[in-house]
Amino acid sequence: MSQVISIHKESSKGCTDARPLVERGQREVFCGLTGIIWLHRKIQDAFFLVVGSRTCAHLIQSAAGVMIFAEPRFGTAIIDERDLAGLADVNEELDRVVNQLLSRRPEIKLLFLVGSCPSEVIKLDLSRAASRLSVQHSPKVRVLNYSGSGIETTFTQGEDACLASMVPVMPSAPTDAEPELLIVGTLADVVEDQFVRILNHMGIERVRFFPPRHAQEQVPIGANTRLLLAQPFLGDTARLLQARGASLLPAPFPLGIEGTTAWLQSAAHAFDVSKERFEAAVAGPLSRAQTALSKAKLHLEGKSIFFFPDSQLEIPLARFLSREMGMKLLEVGTPYLHRQHMAVELAMLPEGTFLSEGQHVENQLDRCRAFHPDMVVCGLGLANPLESEGMTTKWAIELVFTPIQGYDQAGDLAELFTRPLVRRMRLAA
Ligand code: SF4
Repeated sequence: MSQVISIHKESSKGCTDARPLVERGQREVFCGLTGIIWLHRKIQDAFFLVVGSRTCAHLIQSAAGVMIFAEPRFGTAIIDERDLAGLADVNEELDRVVNQLLSRRPEIKLLFLVGSCPSEVIKLDLSRAASRLSVQHSPKVRVLNYSGSGIETTFTQGEDACLASMVPVMPSAPTDAEPELLIVGTLADVVEDQFVRILNHMGIERVRFFPPRHAQEQVPIGANTRLLLAQPFLGDTARLLQARGASLLPAPFPLGIEGTTAWLQSAAHAFDVSKERFEAAVAGPLSRAQTALSKAKLHLEGKSIFFFPDSQLEIPLARFLSREMGMKLLEVGTPYLHRQHMAVELAMLPEGTFLSEGQHVENQLDRCRAFHPDMVVCGLGLANPLESEGMTTKWAIELVFTPIQGYDQAGDLAELFTRPLVRRMRLAA
């Protein structure tokens, strides 16, 4: 326990000063529309209306599946070829679609107009459309907009853009408000509940989450707000929240035992929680996680792993797999390296880890083939070809859809990596 709790005091700088190989070339990533898949489940009275093409509609529908017992909370307003001729018509059509949707679905309290490649190509001004429609439907429904376009984005940036669009309408906290902890980034409800229990046990009672489960939940923001990032891909959101006066707590991300402990510890420092109280609050879940991880380690220790850039979770995952599971890191690719948000993670990565930022997919495939790693973490587009070459892969997107944060999910996180290895061993037997 004392070993786990001393992360901040480590003297090694790990990869703090490491210079990644920066590559700019063809990339194999999903677009930001993908974020709708987990965001529409989280904010239960919101609706995501993609303003896009049939391709966009197809992506969302096939990725999100169809809910059988409830009407979906996402849809696509299709821009037809004929719309390319007249923007006035597109705006009229959009208003008609929105009016129809909101009159049919009175439970919707927040509507996101989500931009796409087609809406950007025809320069459809969705922020003006959102303001116009917000005035029309206020106070029952708020209309916001963000871009999920595939131009220069990776799929987790959709969440960043969505949350960033909500920051300007958050109310200001009174200047004399009690300090409050705001956990930023979509987490499964069950994970949020676990964190609340632990934080309450430490004596931190004022805890909120962003995004909230219901759009009408007001999340105040101000100088007394302490931000703890739960996801590593929220650069714009964090910047906007800081501009509203909130302060960002330095922490790794809550993956694995070490990450979760240091993440909670950062909150504990900010709220003056004593070491004894902290240890009492985490002892139970921490020991359950130790048991779960010791089993997974038997499969993972000594195995090598190669990360293609995809979700922006790569560096925290690599840190967890190397330090707690004993895996060898061959290359850790990330779409973007946000040095400030990754500072604690980089310090914890083994010195000399090969880091790459951005992608030139052909060059990276050559490096991967030369290493022939035991496991490759990559996007769906690369997984099948690499499997056919005899490599064991893990889809990066699965790591975003699955609850993996916190102590009670540490075993599930490790299992996401052991399962493909065990399956490959069985096939080879
Ligand atoms: S937003 Fe662009 S990349 Fe994404 S599905 Fe639509 S057309 Fe394709």
